Amino acid sequence: MFGPARVEILNKLGLFTLNDIINYFPREHEDRGRYKNIYELQDGETAAIRVVIASNVSETRVRRNMAIYKVIAKDETGNIILTWFNQPYIKKQLRVGGEYSFYGKVKNTLGRIEMQSPVFDAGDKSKNTGKIIPIYPLTAGITQNVFRGIVETAVKSVQGNLIDSLPEWIRVQYKLDDIEKAIHNIHFPENLDEFEKARYRLAFEELLIMQLGLLRFKEKGQEDRKGISFNKDENMDELLATLPYTLTAAQQRVWKEIDKDMKSEKSMNRLVQGDVGSGKTIIATMSMFKAVRNGYQAVLMAPTAILARQHYEGIQRMVERFGIKVELLTGDITKKNKERILEELKSGEIDMIVGTHALIEENVTFKNVGIVITDEQHRFGVRQRGILSGKGEKVDTLVMTATPIPRTLAIILYGDLDISIIDELPPGRQKIDTFAVRRNMEERVNNFIKKELTSGRQAYIVCPLVEESEVMDGVKSVVEQLDYYKEVLKDFRVEMLHGKMRPKEKDEIMAKFKAKEIDVLISTTVIEVGVDVPNATIMIIENAERFGLAQLHQLRGRVGRGKFKSYCILKFDSKSDVVKQRMEIMQKSNDGFVISEKDLELRGPGDFFGTKQHGIPEFKVANLFVDIPIMKVAQGVANTIFEDDPSLNLPENTLLLKKIEKLFEEKISL
Ligand code: ADP
Ligand code: MG
Repeated sequence: MFGPARVEILNKLGLFTLNDIINYFPREHEDRGRYKNIYELQDGETAAIRVVIASNVSETRVRRNMAIYKVIAKDETGNIILTWFNQPYIKKQLRVGGEYSFYGKVKNTLGRIEMQSPVFDAGDKSKNTGKIIPIYPLTAGITQNVFRGIVETAVKSVQGNLIDSLPEWIRVQYKLDDIEKAIHNIHFPENLDEFEKARYRLAFEELLIMQLGLLRFKEKGQEDRKGISFNKDENMDELLATLPYTLTAAQQRVWKEIDKDMKSEKSMNRLVQGDVGSGKTIIATMSMFKAVRNGYQAVLMAPTAILARQHYEGIQRMVERFGIKVELLTGDITKKNKERILEELKSGEIDMIVGTHALIEENVTFKNVGIVITDEQHRFGVRQRGILSGKGEKVDTLVMTATPIPRTLAIILYGDLDISIIDELPPGRQKIDTFAVRRNMEERVNNFIKKELTSGRQAYIVCPLVEESEVMDGVKSVVEQLDYYKEVLKDFRVEMLHGKMRPKEKDEIMAKFKAKEIDVLISTTVIEVGVDVPNATIMIIENAERFGLAQLHQLRGRVGRGKFKSYCILKFDSKSDVVKQRMEIMQKSNDGFVISEKDLELRGPGDFFGTKQHGIPEFKVANLFVDIPIMKVAQGVANTIFEDDPSLNLPENTLLLKKIEKLFEEKISL
């Protein structure tokens, strides 16, 4: 249907089938159907006008390779100057006295009204104007116009062939669009109503699938809530006596809750929420200690190898003296070592194991695991948590997260989890001073970094990945930054760290940074979670506008972990109001819960990506924060389906089942 060049670009966007294309939804729609009068046009707005061409197209060469084309157009209310660059064909396409529709960005300087590079249609045509136009998230190499054409073709060609995943009774009862109508209208709605109905239907389907999936997990998890009762006194004071600090009141309260759960006959299912730096690790260690002293093995899973190693080292240091054997299992250890570890886990020689998702591999088996802990839960999928717990019999589970989830959502998602909150930071923490700055402050920022480094401190510099899918670009940006900073900070040791490096290299770099053999670490967000280097006092975030607030807060939490005053500098490059507001929130607040709430407030319904940080399956249409009403309806329907057909074997439910399996098949992002 499409030529080879097109196919290549489509593949790059992850589109291989017609089905992929029709399910590649617009990022937003532009209403190009509401025409304005020229006199109404505001500076900076993007608008549609219907006008008559009042002059010939003039051509001005400004440089050898730059020509400007201008024409004057008018309606009853005024004149407008239309401008294009290097588009000579404009001269042939516009006829004096002819009527056209234009759509573009308006510049209004003291009554002189202009539009630069507008798209247009002649007469009554409505190809680029006169209707609601979908705008797609695209990469270089393909224009909106061309891509729109491709989607149009694809959507037409599947009409009459799509099979609906939603059973008919649901569509009838809840007055939902059928799938063909929904697909058509999510791309090419005639009006906002049509779009909303299509969106509702697609969001409903996604949320229904998620609810059904969660129901299945919960069902499995609850078959038998009777678990291990860890009732032998573990003598926790021995462990606590080795700490250079005493637990905060919040930590003590949370420990009491966990302790009670562990003693009880019911198996524990608890979520521990606590802001960055609130001291979750020691709580995890205490739970593991209790399990081991009761004769069971304990597991701690972390989302990155760096974090796993850090936990391993810290825990090892604390419990070694009690004759407890701790090991580390990540993807990159030698085969021989791995075989030994697997053997010793099985025989029970190892008491505590810390690792990455390497722990959920099939060949990892235990003698008698009693507690399973996942740190920074938001990086794992629901499924991975389940697999790990499945490795023991009736194990207690603890999940730790620094990402606050709104309560309504937590109940829906983790209905079977109890929640503990560490709502207090250890004493003596200094506020991290945060500054949001633009390009023009670069030199001052660099001088500031030098000053801190000279006095013996260390710095992180974080660069964004351009797009989640463009990992290589992200790497490139780190490499470029490395060159830049090696030049700017030439008296210091500057190194980089990114997700594409081998785990072993990453560990080495991190170890050197901890040992102060590196002054400045340039990295992607691989250091986002948990990394603990108290001597690091500066966190520079490049292109801060590309990060979510919750993520910025996590990154900022990498500094301010020791006795030194710490700083976070957010470099941003955007004029958008929302970006400005987001930067202000970061400057004003150091409280993860406040930040997360504001983050949700500032998110529009158009943000399909906001859920990523919360460890919830990703949706294309549904937005968990905005669509809670839809979620409630879907939850009801899911319960009904589940009661009738718990294994989803009925023919009308098989497509749903397939989609559930696909949704929970997510990968871990590193
Ligand atoms: P997070 O909750 O972000 O995982 P960590 O467990 O890494 O936080 O703790 C952050 C730092 O605070 C660590 O260096 C840890 O040793 C220290 N810490 C934890 N609890 C206390 C406490 N009660 N008093 C003082 N320092 C503490
Ligand atoms: Mg932590």
